[in-house]
Amino acid sequence: MSETPRHEVIVIGGGQAGLAAGYFLRRAGVDFMILDERQRGGGSWQHMWPSLRLFSPAQHNSLPGWGMPPQPGAEFPTVDHAVEYLRAYEHRYELPVRRPVRVDGIRRTNGEFVVTTDVGTWTSRGVISATGTWRAPYVPAYPGMADFTGPQWHTASYPGPEPFRGQRVMVVGGGNSAAQILAELSTVAETTWVTRRHPRFMPDEVDGRVLFDVATRRLSGATNGVSELGDIVMVDSVRKARERGVLRALPMFDGLTRHGAAWADGTEREFDSVVWCTGFRPALRQLRPLRLSRRQGRIPTEGTRSLEQPRMHLVGYGDWTGAASATLIGVGRTARTAVAELIAELGREGPEHSGGRTQTPLDTVRRSMANRS
Ligand code: FAD
Repeated sequence: MSETPRHEVIVIGGGQAGLAAGYFLRRAGVDFMILDERQRGGGSWQHMWPSLRLFSPAQHNSLPGWGMPPQPGAEFPTVDHAVEYLRAYEHRYELPVRRPVRVDGIRRTNGEFVVTTDVGTWTSRGVISATGTWRAPYVPAYPGMADFTGPQWHTASYPGPEPFRGQRVMVVGGGNSAAQILAELSTVAETTWVTRRHPRFMPDEVDGRVLFDVATRRLSGATNGVSELGDIVMVDSVRKARERGVLRALPMFDGLTRHGAAWADGTEREFDSVVWCTGFRPALRQLRPLRLSRRQGRIPTEGTRSLEQPRMHLVGYGDWTGAASATLIGVGRTARTAVAELIAELGREGPEHSGGRTQTPLDTVRRSMANRS
């Protein structure tokens, strides 16, 4: 790139969160660009294991504006269906996504963001970070991990059941990924499930719809939230695993050994592989040059807005930045608020901070957002 392209807003990440933000930015007439490091659209869904099913029916997995079409023959859509939907959504709203572009760092210079990537530099007045969590798998530290001789996997690298056929496998973690992976592995391997606390299964009739409703009621203060229902959604595969009697969990081990794990009471078990389903952290490495405060992988925010960089918003990282914002159905609400606040913020600073360019008519934009939200 010979000269530095400049936009009013740069969105980093073109998964569902970036697309939802793009939808509202486009509707408001803002000049923006989405940068995404992957070759193709669909965000991290394209890397999830093929048998994974969404935990609610298609119509309850919709981004703003256009609902996910039903998948013929599948009440709970497959990951391929989710990927197709996101690619079609991007196309339908002609969202300007540039890929593959990996954002390496963001700095602030003369009141503007300078976004450095592997193919050049962009500048903007506002930034929306929508980089998800897939790039930041989390594995807790336990003694002996380096001594274990078998392969160790994470949800993010789980390849499906075939490599585990006939093995003894330990699955670690008490959430949905662990339960679904355990359910699948238990059909081809001898599985042991280990959780930090006793697994909490939701009632069979609870799916993503109910979770979203509960998250919404929590926003209005009517309930304490989703966690009171449990942690694990009883999708079909998990229900079947319960019927086969494989959903029994052991408490956490003290450490790994060369060939397995050892518990405080002296028990030892041998395994061929370990699958860590221990979650993810926000993928925020590209924000490091801004030198923001950090606590447990997060930066200080109010809603989606960075407290230390008020023209930067974060969308799609889960309840941290907005109720249910890591889900397909929930991210639209967070994206709408983030875009409305960012536009207001850009407008408040006025044209004298705008680098002397001809501006997007922000007053019109703000009015438009106010009318529509
Ligand atoms: P992502 O999909 O990860 O998109 C982020 C994008 O940012 C990616 O395209 C990536 O290439 C890009 N990016 C990252 N870093 C950079 C960088 N430095 N430079 C440029 N681009 C970058 N939600 C549901 O609603 N229903 C479900 O059933 C469901 N099941 C799930 C099952 C699993 C196993 C997991 C892990 C999550 C599930 N979720 C579910 C949660 C959520 O919907 C997904 O995680 C979703 O992919 C999050 O979207 P996102 O846009 O926030 O992040």
